[in-house]
Amino acid sequence: MAPHRQVCLGIESTADDFGVGVATFDGEVLANVSDSYVPEEGGIHPREAARHHAEVADKVLAQALSKANLKPANLSVITFAQGPGLGPCLRTGATVARALASYLGLPLVGVNHSVGHIEIGKLKTAASDPLTLYVSGGNTMVTAYAAGRYRVFGETLDIALGNCLDVFGREAGLKNRRGQPLGAQVEQLAKKGGLLVPLPYVVKGMDISLSGLVTAAVSALNEGKFSLEDVCFSLQENAFSMVTEVSERALAHTEKREVLLTGGVAANKRLQEMLGIIAAEHDAQFMVVPKEFATDNGAMIAWAGVLAFTHGQTTPVEESFVKLRWRVDKVDVPWMEANL
Ligand code: AMP
Ligand code: MG
Repeated sequence: MAPHRQVCLGIESTADDFGVGVATFDGEVLANVSDSYVPEEGGIHPREAARHHAEVADKVLAQALSKANLKPANLSVITFAQGPGLGPCLRTGATVARALASYLGLPLVGVNHSVGHIEIGKLKTAASDPLTLYVSGGNTMVTAYAAGRYRVFGETLDIALGNCLDVFGREAGLKNRRGQPLGAQVEQLAKKGGLLVPLPYVVKGMDISLSGLVTAAVSALNEGKFSLEDVCFSLQENAFSMVTEVSERALAHTEKREVLLTGGVAANKRLQEMLGIIAAEHDAQFMVVPKEFATDNGAMIAWAGVLAFTHGQTTPVEESFVKLRWRVDKVDVPWMEANL
């Protein structure tokens, strides 16, 4: 790499993944390394996940720098996901970022994790101003840019879409396996199902509710009348139709010309199919973030950090405390106005 190119190192640690990404100021991802905490049993235990992140941080950092073929002295700015997320996990990433920035004498930028998912989706698909469905283990929202920020047009009132699939998967006896998220295991089973089991479908205005759906799906399975494959199929059909319905209404309202699917659940082929259909019906282009950048990753934080830093945003250390419930619509995104 030419030594004069400016580069940003980004740290992601909002939940189960500890990721370090390196991005140039002109949008090339030079490295994207992560290590995930996989609980033996059950869901994410925040303190256990944070302990994992602290244990792997130096290794992941070293791997990312070596992949990018850079030394710490070549970096221009350090960014980290400041929220939203799980407190102990966020604090571990923030501590690493503060230490690096102060040791290297570099500016620090705290970025919003949801902005990261939207921006890496745009960077990797060349979308410019999309309606975005962001669905992951911890977040579910339909957003679009308007008046300086990514506005939320619809969201979950309780649990996230990925969490809905994960909780059902665990209750159904599926096991946590590295490289095979529970959502992906549910997807494989759903492909073998086809009978639509009656389950709740809850859309309230522009918002959705998924917790009753999980409970009903678990009960339907435990009754023993339906196969696991059919319940997985029906769970997906109901949950994905809900987010698709809300996305379609937001698309009709905003008249955006692009639909972007991002976040860990974006890897799901059936969800991609449903969103592709509504995009086509509204003459919008449908785009899906590539799998490597769908799930939580450091590159998305590095790239969102580049955008923020080059538009005048920095975070003094005394303001770098983590924000567990930092909504995407609280964040100014001045680079969008400049690009439209
Ligand atoms: P993230 O929170 O962005 O790291 O994404 C993790 C979430 O994505 C978890 O809830 C996973 O179960 C879910 N996920 C990953 N792959 C798939 C898939 N193919 N289908 C559905 N959900 C998935
Ligand atoms: Mg994750």
